Amino acid sequence: MEPQRSPLLEVKGNLELKRPLVKAPSRLPLSGSRFKRRLDQMEDILEPEKKRTRGLDTTTKFATSHHRAPVITTVPQTQGQTAAPKVPKKTGPRCSTAVATAAAAPPKLGGKKPSKRPGWDLKGQLCDLNAELKCYRERTQTLDQENQQLRDQLREAQQQATALGAERRTLEGELARVQAQAEQGQQELENLSARVLELEERLGTQEGLVQELQKEQLGLQAERRELATRLEEQERRLQTSEAALSGSQAEVASLRQEAAAQATLLAERGERLHGLEMERRRLHNQLQELKGNIRVFCRVRPVLPGEPTPPPGFLLFPSGPAGSSDPPTHLSLLRCDERRGTLSGVPAPPTRHDFSFDRVFPPGSGQDEVFEEIAMLVQSALDGYPVCIFAYGQTGSGKTFTMEGGPAGDPQVEGLIPRALRHLFSVAQELSGQGWTYSFVASYVEIYNETVRDLLATGTRKGQGGECEIRRAGPGSEELTVTNARYVPVSCEKEVETLLLLARQNRAVARTAQNERSSRSHSVFQLQISGEHAGRGLQCAAPLNLVDLAGSERLDPGLALGPGERERLRETQAINSSLSTLGLVIMALSNKESHVPYRNSKLTYLLQNSLGGSAKMLMFVNISPLEENVSESLNSLRFASKVWLPPSPALSGPLATGFLHPHPFCPSGQGTFIQKGLTMANHLQHTPI
Ligand code: ADP
Ligand code: MG
Repeated sequence: MEPQRSPLLEVKGNLELKRPLVKAPSRLPLSGSRFKRRLDQMEDILEPEKKRTRGLDTTTKFATSHHRAPVITTVPQTQGQTAAPKVPKKTGPRCSTAVATAAAAPPKLGGKKPSKRPGWDLKGQLCDLNAELKCYRERTQTLDQENQQLRDQLREAQQQATALGAERRTLEGELARVQAQAEQGQQELENLSARVLELEERLGTQEGLVQELQKEQLGLQAERRELATRLEEQERRLQTSEAALSGSQAEVASLRQEAAAQATLLAERGERLHGLEMERRRLHNQLQELKGNIRVFCRVRPVLPGEPTPPPGFLLFPSGPAGSSDPPTHLSLLRCDERRGTLSGVPAPPTRHDFSFDRVFPPGSGQDEVFEEIAMLVQSALDGYPVCIFAYGQTGSGKTFTMEGGPAGDPQVEGLIPRALRHLFSVAQELSGQGWTYSFVASYVEIYNETVRDLLATGTRKGQGGECEIRRAGPGSEELTVTNARYVPVSCEKEVETLLLLARQNRAVARTAQNERSSRSHSVFQLQISGEHAGRGLQCAAPLNLVDLAGSERLDPGLALGPGERERLRETQAINSSLSTLGLVIMALSNKESHVPYRNSKLTYLLQNSLGGSAKMLMFVNISPLEENVSESLNSLRFASKVWLPPSPALSGPLATGFLHPHPFCPSGQGTFIQKGLTMANHLQHTPI
């Protein structure tokens, strides 16, 4: 079967094949019209001959007519051929030769110049004419034959032309179709070219990607090789480890047993430790109570630069029974009383006033030394016992120095408040190892002329002395709180420092408004301590109060009473009243009286839950070393002596102080213990008994 050819190729083939056919007409003598024209020409040629034959009039006419003979020899032109005359074909029809011969005949006749027959030789002339006629007849016959041939050729040519026309139309149709197909093909080709370009572009991208992937593959192969090496190494090590593991497992089993035994031991020890801690607390408290639930320390400040040196022997610090190694507990003050004279007029010898306290600190005692003595009380506060530390004395005797310290920034002169808090934070940290969690909330107020003011106030309330009230935390609650006062949770020394600074600033602002108000008011720093042992369901809470009391000096009775002095008198009366109340409260507690006059002053009212019961109270009586202050010093010392109850010399038992309450701890493990007498901030949750 012949393979199918594309239309374009088919057309091309056809065109090649048909070319001879198309050219064929050029070999044909003439097209229809030309052939006719040629016949007419022949007629024209023949016409004179005929005429001459008919008329035989003159040879001249004949001679002129044969000039047209060459026209017959004109070769018919085919379509597409140029109009230039061509040499007659030698292969032309025979008649053309004859015609040519015939056409040439007249000149020949004329040229030969046949002998002119005499006019009389009519026969000869006729004979010539007959010969000539015969020649023409032959020629005519020849031409007719030729004509017939030409007609046949013409017919054939017409048929061919018709066929070729049809074929041409077919081919034209086919050509148009092929062209359309070619155009479509061209379009498709363009599309395909564009597609090819696009694909080439994508191919380029893909090739780039492939290259990258190949690179990556190479990298991964290298990595894989490395990992395989490492894996082998790991497997080797694993095998070694497995061998070691199996050895260790036995060891672990025995260690587990050991650990279990240790855990049991640890639990037992924890239990024991807890018992010991409880016991420590109990004994600590017992010791504190043996030392006295109310203790008085006397502190004499040094003579400051610029102050007159007191006469020798003005203040004496006799040693204890154990000699100078014993911490001093006695103080003697010599007073020359000019009013007392002898009869002889000789000045009376100075009167010696002896005082005994729990501890006496001579002027050289440092802050650390003082704190050492009260660190035990701070421990009591952590153990859940309310603690109150007062600084009592005339203005300038060193109360603020004792409580807050000297100039800020010098750790040597840091007072009791920062030292106590540092101690608390550190002990609380230690106790956290035993499962205790402690939290501390600080407040700082001052009581001036029986009004309470927040020293930690900030913003618009700062230094304004906005009124605060002491209220019960709730109906039926023993808990007291100061309204409008800030209770600030503290957890580090830095926070405490910030609070003390704020309190100082608040006092400074107030000082500008009211002269030296700070020495005319009581400053009460309260720290609420809350501890919890979640594991054992134990709680303890107690306040630690550090109180810088107002100056205890009395008003000079000889002073003229101007408006300023009247105000001063009112202040002094308020101070004296509150200090007296404090003395009375302490004495009432000391004597276990049924009525304790807490309500007689704001100070005792605020501190009522921190005084009495198992609460610990320490009073510093601050003394000026100057002789000029002897009267006030004596006054302070007498006040302190009244509230001080000497510890039982026998220390025969806890009841020696008379203040002991049943111990709050329950060694047999009753669970929660809560101390009575709490001053809790509103936000502290606890369950007072
Ligand atoms: P108060 O608060 O009783 O009015 P201060 O504490 O303000 O008295 O003390 C008065 C001055 O004496 C202050 O300048 C203080 O620095 C100084 N001072 C008090 N006690 C001591 C002391 N133990 N050592 C050194 N200076 C002291
Ligand atoms: Mg002061």
